[in-house]
Amino acid sequence: MTCLQSFSPSLKITPKLAEKLDKLGLRTDQDVLLHIPLRYEDETHITPVADLRLGVFAQAQVTVVAQSVQFRGRRSLLVTTMDAAEDTLVLRFLNFYPNTTATLKEGALVRVQGEPRMGHHGVEMVHPRFQGVREETPLSEHLSPVYPTTEGLSQGAMRKLMAKAMAEVSLPEILPEQILDDSWPTLNEAVRLLHAPPPDVNPSALTERDHPAWSRIKFEELLAQQISLTKAKLKRAAEHAPPLLARNDVFSRFVAQLPFALTGAQQRAWALIAHDVTQGVPMHRLLQGDVGSGKTVVAGLACAQCVAAGFQAAVMAPTEILAEQLFEKLRGWFEPLGMRVVWLASSVKKKDKQTTYEAIRENQAHVVVGTHALIQEAVQFYNLGLAVIDEQHRFGVMQRLELRHKMRDNVSMQARSAENNGVKYSEHAPHQLMMSATPIPRTLALSYFADLDVAVIDELPPNRTPIITKLIDQVRRGDVVDKVARDVSLGRQVYWVCPLIEESETLELQTAIDTHATLVTMLPDVRIGLVHGRLSAAEKRAVMQAFVAHELDVLVATTVIEVGVDVANASVMVIEHAERFGLAQLHQLRGRVGRGATQSTCILLYEKPLSATAKSRLKTMYETTDGFEVARQDLLLRGAGEFLGTRQSGLPLLRFADIEKDIELLELARDAAAWLLKHNPDAADAHLQRWLAQREHYLAG
Ligand code: ADP
Ligand code: MG
Repeated sequence: MTCLQSFSPSLKITPKLAEKLDKLGLRTDQDVLLHIPLRYEDETHITPVADLRLGVFAQAQVTVVAQSVQFRGRRSLLVTTMDAAEDTLVLRFLNFYPNTTATLKEGALVRVQGEPRMGHHGVEMVHPRFQGVREETPLSEHLSPVYPTTEGLSQGAMRKLMAKAMAEVSLPEILPEQILDDSWPTLNEAVRLLHAPPPDVNPSALTERDHPAWSRIKFEELLAQQISLTKAKLKRAAEHAPPLLARNDVFSRFVAQLPFALTGAQQRAWALIAHDVTQGVPMHRLLQGDVGSGKTVVAGLACAQCVAAGFQAAVMAPTEILAEQLFEKLRGWFEPLGMRVVWLASSVKKKDKQTTYEAIRENQAHVVVGTHALIQEAVQFYNLGLAVIDEQHRFGVMQRLELRHKMRDNVSMQARSAENNGVKYSEHAPHQLMMSATPIPRTLALSYFADLDVAVIDELPPNRTPIITKLIDQVRRGDVVDKVARDVSLGRQVYWVCPLIEESETLELQTAIDTHATLVTMLPDVRIGLVHGRLSAAEKRAVMQAFVAHELDVLVATTVIEVGVDVANASVMVIEHAERFGLAQLHQLRGRVGRGATQSTCILLYEKPLSATAKSRLKTMYETTDGFEVARQDLLLRGAGEFLGTRQSGLPLLRFADIEKDIELLELARDAAAWLLKHNPDAADAHLQRWLAQREHYLAG
């Protein structure tokens, strides 16, 4: 809800202006003052037209020579100007108003600010800012702030508003001195300095955001985020979950039948999880481990513990192929113990679905495995004790939140009325185990994922030979085909992944079909299968199963061969047009091989020319097989927003702080948030209100 009246009259904010400010999330005097510039422009001097650099913001002082309105396609205004050295600069406007033409009349002296570019008529500025001036009009003495703004609200209007706000509004200090650094200014000082930097402030400290005033603002922002996250965590800690204490021998029998001994890392991870699930508060833990590190069996242990305690476990994966593999694995483990594992995906026939729903509701199903179909309205668990989410990073932030809510709600009425240790099921939230091969970089773990406990599997199962990665120019694909033939003759299996074609699924499909046909012709004695997204779930399954059973030697695939697919005998991974894939994706694909004792190879076929980003991605792949390093590089290349998958979900990211650069501030903020919530919760709330009033629900979930 907007509350326009919360601006004080002295700011003279008209209802119309208030509406625009509202779009920027500015609803109070304080909000206005806290609307910090995102960058600065240097209008403290004049650049001769001859010295303008294309694409680099500058200010010029010019005299209008001619003005003409043009009608090529749409109406535009072309103003030809000249500076004192008689060099020409063209100003171009696509939208213009009567006062534009009036100010830029022939003979007028104007100052213009903008980014020069090369146009039809030489150097031009498109939609520069401009002011009519006299020779003696003084230049600005400080850098000019540039504000995030909205349609119909100019930088000029913003600056005027800020000047008024600075004169009229002050920000009471909320934060106690203990948590602030001595070198930082007060909030009032910091905000004023950033709105109107004095001439003696080092411009690069402003633009690089390492001035103490920036530190103060970034700390404020990070603190709000940390308070929000910590509160979410505390809220969860106040919830109830059923302590999963084994009531029968399902767990010990599960362990006894495992065909291998757990690695030390798996044991350590399991110890943490085993402790969590026996507590009366919901576990919220991420199990992180590189591709092939053996997360599934740890999830299996958690399910066994849950089932042994008399509760149902749900296991969800982002795609049908992945879910299917989990299903097969879990079924293999649980059915010999007399436990029922059921399968739910959107491809399941309606009638079968109804039967499955019923089994789930009536407590006839002990472990439920599937895709998103698991969180559908119609699914009602009898007593869900544990929810496992595989490849959790593949679910967007919003999806994850939704999931969490759904999992909590989807407990059947029957179970709701039952009691467990005096606590009603209706007050229960299930324990949650999330799994991911994409490690969350430390900085993100401290910020966006601060309310997650993490267990890491940092050791691969024994007898793995490190994968060799080769970068090969696609003109040499003949050599690759030869290698494939050799490996197949030695009894090995090969994945051949077709290029990602983002613009066209049809084209992607066609390439896969072509590649398959070519390979079949070139390698007549080799059994080659094809799997792609257009196949039905059953067809996909049939092909995958044939590959698993070694009835196929080579599997040509579009990117549907997902993370998590597990064929120990596959030792070669060929990725065509590797330059089109993201780092995380390449790493995941590479992780499909190297699961057995034989030497595995990942061949990245690329086509020149390579963009700088593509080059550094391939270089990273060549240089490291360490998932953590890959994730770090990925974060550097893509930025946190994409890493989080928040582009689609609209989760607001930090505006001022940069979690990579500001790790020290982030750590300070984390400690300060804990201190504040303990010693001065009112201040914590007031601070949150000040910074995140409109956005908190996104962050806290
Ligand atoms: P991911 O962590 O990528 O999900 P998986 O759980 O699919 O990895 O495990 C990869 C492979 O390693 C599987 O074939 C699994 O059976 C095997 N594996 C897991 N743990 C061990 C272990 N302790 N010893 C030997 N093999 C193991
Ligand atoms: Mg897996």
